[in-house]
Amino acid sequence: MSTTTAQQSGGWSNLALWKKILIGMVAGIIVGAIMGPNAEMLKPIGTLFINAIKMLIVPLVFCSLVVGVTAMQDSAKMGRMGIKSIIIYLLTTAVAITIGLGLGTILAPGDGLNMVADANAAAVAKDAKDAPSLVSTIINLIPKNPIEALAGGKILQIIVFALGLGIALNMIGEKGEPAIKLFNSLAEAMFKLTELVMKFAPYGIFALMAWVAGKYGMDVLLPLFKVIGAVYIGCIIHVLVVYSGAIAFIARLSPVQYLKGIVNAQMMAFSSTSSSGTLPVSIRCARENLGVSKGTASFVLPLGATINMDGTALYQGVAALFVAQAFGIDLSTGDYLTIIATATLASVGTAGVPGAGLIMLSLVLTTVGLPMEGLAIIAGIDRILDMARTSVNVSGDLMVSVLIAKSENELDESIYNAVEPVTEQEGVNA
Ligand code: ASP
Repeated sequence: MSTTTAQQSGGWSNLALWKKILIGMVAGIIVGAIMGPNAEMLKPIGTLFINAIKMLIVPLVFCSLVVGVTAMQDSAKMGRMGIKSIIIYLLTTAVAITIGLGLGTILAPGDGLNMVADANAAAVAKDAKDAPSLVSTIINLIPKNPIEALAGGKILQIIVFALGLGIALNMIGEKGEPAIKLFNSLAEAMFKLTELVMKFAPYGIFALMAWVAGKYGMDVLLPLFKVIGAVYIGCIIHVLVVYSGAIAFIARLSPVQYLKGIVNAQMMAFSSTSSSGTLPVSIRCARENLGVSKGTASFVLPLGATINMDGTALYQGVAALFVAQAFGIDLSTGDYLTIIATATLASVGTAGVPGAGLIMLSLVLTTVGLPMEGLAIIAGIDRILDMARTSVNVSGDLMVSVLIAKSENELDESIYNAVEPVTEQEGVNA
């Protein structure tokens, strides 16, 4: 190998992972813009990567949660963490929709479109897909068959079973030790596997971005530019003001370290549009960059990936106003409050998978009697909006993990305040 090539390849492999992913993303957008719809042929490379990440979710969440519970040995603490997380998740979600409604009002993305609702709109609205009710969600928390829950990737059920198993292992003392050791070693192996799969991230993300950029040319984006702008501005405000503010004023930690530590997870969320799919990366960021303890990260993050969707809620606020403006429908204060309540609940029921927020939007539109045709217009650009909202969803989960870890003395501040994230240092030494 010539010296220059050696230096070049050395340069690339020494680059921090987030920089490589960023380069992959930008290169993907450029290649996609040049290739147009032909960029579809690159998509399988992206799918390969997403599948590899998905492969990690169930064993990683299950093993690390069992290990986390056995390490904590204090079930009252777990209960407290659960309640605190749920309260913060719901509060930040309500703030997110309010920001969405505010921006929807100020930027008025639907004004001047003068669309006319079909007379059958109400009938169409009735056909909207039913969201799972809160009661059925609660009943389904307990898996009748844990193997089925694992096989089906039902995260909430997996959390409940892992909590039970971990607590039981603690209670049987010595007899539980071999199993705890086994789970410990499996969890470590899953972390290692995550690290290995992430080495492929820049290429997978390159392919995904090329595909998206190729599919949505400027023709598709321009007419709905204001909606996209409102959602993106709202998402940025939510992360920079609400999350960074919570980190600075509630946890009394540096928001810059938080923002630096979550970059990998954000980029993964942006390109995959799935918060569940991003879980392995989020857990890794929380533990290795933010110093959140094993137990806290493996409990708070899977819970958040399932029920905390601030970006989705914010998007629903903007989208509902967009539809109302486009069809010239006036909304009352009561309607605004209904949107806040429905979108908060809808976001809890939204699965962390691509496009789930669009389905839940139908619920919000129906509740305030807005025409369902609006959904079709938004659907055309949903992926672009999904990228932003999923990044916020994941950033929110990570923010809450820091808050909870800090309040429960489960945060290693020397890792949190380290100049370079630990993962990146490893990358350099590798
Ligand atoms: N894709 C989002 C997520 O996984 C959900 C949504 O569609 O809003 O977090």
